Amino acid sequence: MAMVAVIGAGAAGMLTAARLLDAAGGRALRIVLIDPGRGRGPAYSTDDGRHLLNVPAAGMSALPDAPDDFVDWLRERVDPEIKPSSFVARGRYGDYLADHLADCERRSSAVLERRYGRVVAVDHTGRREVTVRLDTGEVLVASAAVLATGTAPGVAWAPAGLVASERFVGDPWAPGALDALPESDVLLVGTGLTMVDVVLSLDRPSRSVHAVSRHGVVPAVHRSEKTPPVAAELTGDLQALRTGVLRHVVKTARRTGDWRAAIDGLRPITAQLWKSLSDDDKAEFLRTDARTWDVHRHRMAPITAERLAAVRESGRLCLHRGEVVTAEDTGDAVRVLLSDGTAMTVGAVVNCTGPVGDPSADPLLATLLAGGLARTGPAGLGLDTADDGRVLGATGRRAPLWTLGALRRGALWESTAMPEIRCQAAEVARAVVDCIYRPAARRLPPDHETAGGPAYVVLVGGG
Ligand SMILES: Cc1cc2nc3c(=O)[nH]c(=O)nc-3n(C[C@H](O)[C@H](O)[C@H](O)COP(=O)(O)OP(=O)(O)OC[C@H]3O[C@@H](n4cnc5c(N)ncnc54)[C@H](O)[C@@H]3O)c2cc1C
Repeated sequence: MAMVAVIGAGAAGMLTAARLLDAAGGRALRIVLIDPGRGRGPAYSTDDGRHLLNVPAAGMSALPDAPDDFVDWLRERVDPEIKPSSFVARGRYGDYLADHLADCERRSSAVLERRYGRVVAVDHTGRREVTVRLDTGEVLVASAAVLATGTAPGVAWAPAGLVASERFVGDPWAPGALDALPESDVLLVGTGLTMVDVVLSLDRPSRSVHAVSRHGVVPAVHRSEKTPPVAAELTGDLQALRTGVLRHVVKTARRTGDWRAAIDGLRPITAQLWKSLSDDDKAEFLRTDARTWDVHRHRMAPITAERLAAVRESGRLCLHRGEVVTAEDTGDAVRVLLSDGTAMTVGAVVNCTGPVGDPSADPLLATLLAGGLARTGPAGLGLDTADDGRVLGATGRRAPLWTLGALRRGALWESTAMPEIRCQAAEVARAVVDCIYRPAARRLPPDHETAGGPAYVVLVGGG
């Protein structure tokens, strides 16, 4: 049987597996989905009902060409009154993805297998073959692999002593990470969407939560009823785009009363604009504009904003603008000094700075980079990829290895939310199946392609 192996089971891995099941088209394909956990990834594994999607239900369908799929599922399984504009619990979305994958599995001629383990290496062992090694000792030989591993939170900002402390939570989305925190005050580092969720989870009448970031700005808020996106035609270098975007936002806000419609209208052209920037402009954007972009582009649900405002008004949440200068574990607490001069003693420090872009911070990606199977993406973010998500190696050589989601940020900039990931999953599945079943006469030259072997795709990540 032709065998496709797949690596990783967050939303991106699950959707890639689903699209591969669809793409099998009557062929007997084998797909292996690998993840150390039960899958769904950190975003959609939470069972805290206060953790809501930050995109309305209408924007979260697993299928780009069936936009009502998630809303229909919610109406059938959860609440017939759900509106397309509703912001539902993220755990529900995890259930939806699992159901979607199971449906695809039932309909498909392909077989889906799961492995519970972490992939530690992917080697390019033949012209059309990769070897995928798991920390369980298992070795899979596949015709292709898809890296759907997302990106883990980075802790480079944290003093070494703090990282070593038991009072430091490096990944708030790790299972049970927030369960054992002391009841005393806490400091959250980062003030984006992760901070918002962590505040809602940790808020207690007896506890003050401090949150610090360089800008001290929290995400903007969605409107309850979405204004249709307003498109724009923009070109030019970073300076020209800054001017163009500002003009577009002002004009749209005047016409519709909602600046969000202008930002949402840029979504279809964001990747093209990013690609057109020079390396210097990309680096400059990351230094000076990215935070402002993220605050307006990645917004929180109105109900989440109301809950956060209530905690702030109660005086239990204090926002600081600055950086952590020192953080010392004194045995029964952590003594912290911020760059704005604030000194505080807290029971724990939680990292809410979000994922890092540097791929060498991940052990598996570091081995791919070291072996020349992958190269760092533009602006030092993620991995460099072709348009269909195929990973580009050090010399431009292409192994049968694809990726999607956050690892394509350097190539596309906006590549972390479901509306982008669902399209990428479909593209990757098409490209993988095409590569496996492509007649030999149409194969690329040996140095651009892997050879031989059974048709076998490995997806790294679980589900
Ligand atoms: C808290 C939070 C809330 C979010 N809310 C929204 C939202 O409302 N709407 C939206 O569109 N987007 C949202 N996002 C963006 C989110 O990143 C994507 O929607 C999506 O969850 C990303 O999925 P992923 O599979 O690419 O990555 P992840 O969810 O990070 O999953 C990666 C998986 O790969 C596995 N893995 C990693 N390394 C290995 C390895 N070496 N071997 C095997 N497996 C491995 C991990 O265990 C994990 O299960 C949110 C993100 C976060 C963090």
